[in-house]
Amino acid sequence: MVLLKFHGGCHQIGMSCVEVIGEKDRVFLDCGMMPDTGEIPKIDDNAPLIVSHAHLDHCGAIPFYNFKKIYCTPPTADLMFITWRDTLNLQKSFKEEDIQRALSSVECLNYYEEKKIGENLKFKLYNAGHILGSSSIYLEIDGKRILYTGDINESMQRTVRAADTDIDDIDILIIEATYGSPLDIKPARKVLERELVNEVKETIERGGKVIIPVFAVGRAQEILLVLNNYIRSGELEAKIFTDGSLIHATSIYLSYTDWLNPKLKNLIETGINPFGNVEKADESRIFKKDEPCVIVSTSGMVQGGPVLKYLRLLKDPKNKLILTGYQAEGTLGRALEEGIKEIKPFKNKIPIRGEVVKIEFSAHGDYNSLVRYIKKIPKPEKAIVMHGERYQSLAFAMTIWKNLKIPAYVPIKGTILPV
Ligand SMILES: [Zn+2]
Ligand SMILES: [Zn+2]
Repeated sequence: MVLLKFHGGCHQIGMSCVEVIGEKDRVFLDCGMMPDTGEIPKIDDNAPLIVSHAHLDHCGAIPFYNFKKIYCTPPTADLMFITWRDTLNLQKSFKEEDIQRALSSVECLNYYEEKKIGENLKFKLYNAGHILGSSSIYLEIDGKRILYTGDINESMQRTVRAADTDIDDIDILIIEATYGSPLDIKPARKVLERELVNEVKETIERGGKVIIPVFAVGRAQEILLVLNNYIRSGELEAKIFTDGSLIHATSIYLSYTDWLNPKLKNLIETGINPFGNVEKADESRIFKKDEPCVIVSTSGMVQGGPVLKYLRLLKDPKNKLILTGYQAEGTLGRALEEGIKEIKPFKNKIPIRGEVVKIEFSAHGDYNSLVRYIKKIPKPEKAIVMHGERYQSLAFAMTIWKNLKIPAYVPIKGTILPV
């Protein structure tokens, strides 16, 4: 009998953590943090950990613990360092030494490389198509074959290839449900890209400045690729400035060309930097009057990071803020999205006169994409739904039962499920 214990990421997006307990072996899958509150799972860390990818909700809690060993892909290891550093700067909840200790416990594996880590426990990583180095974890414990998808995208993105669906046979599927409701059907990527470029163009043409807050890993690189692609083709004329840890993250994307979308890899190998000139912005030019420009900066939910200092540009109705992803409740990004008229990120109040628009560029597959994914992979005996808000998780479990004829479960925090 294998037990699955759910420590977080249940009915929520944040602090994903599943403990897999066999006769003799035990392992953790992900150990994330809540992005808004900083809450972490409460666990006994005397076991190894396998990390799916470098986003905060999957790896943010690692420096609080002392895992025996931490397994992930090489790009994930490098990108986790950036995520931890950003967390350290924002929350001061652990120390630099904790980051150093965590990183020294990391052992890297490439996709498809099999690793035995217990008497009856082995695993390998498949490409999850979500961000650079992201993986789905395929685990065999006491003869049970478990696929933990992590965050997945079944369609190709500009940065990375689509998720692998040619996967060995599965008994238990643990799947994410960020967009798990049938209402979560997103416009095609091309349409969103066009919308973004039009919004930027309109602002630049009237002499305004555009602020685009982004997550350092994944979203930043996708946005930079879109903007630079349209600039190269001559359809968009704009000066782009960057700021924040996305600069380090982008340099890591450039270090792992073999892990990127092959089209992107080719572009890099012909000598083009498809991300454009990514370096610390010259602030005097950003604030210079009558110089239209685009500022791409962290953090994505406008909760911290250098983007805060550019918000005073929104005093001017010519300027615009473009939010590019989900804004959690309680964040400044959410307040701006909901039309707040005045903000106070630092000492002085800033009236918001510039326009705020939202174009949701997600690194997750939408509802249709999640359904397609399950149809493509081998049919499991049982499915478990996590990493989604309550409604999304329940709705997706219903789809899996009714349409795909697979028994599906939605654990809550603390659930222990025998499989
Ligand atoms: Zn993610
Ligand atoms: Zn996630």
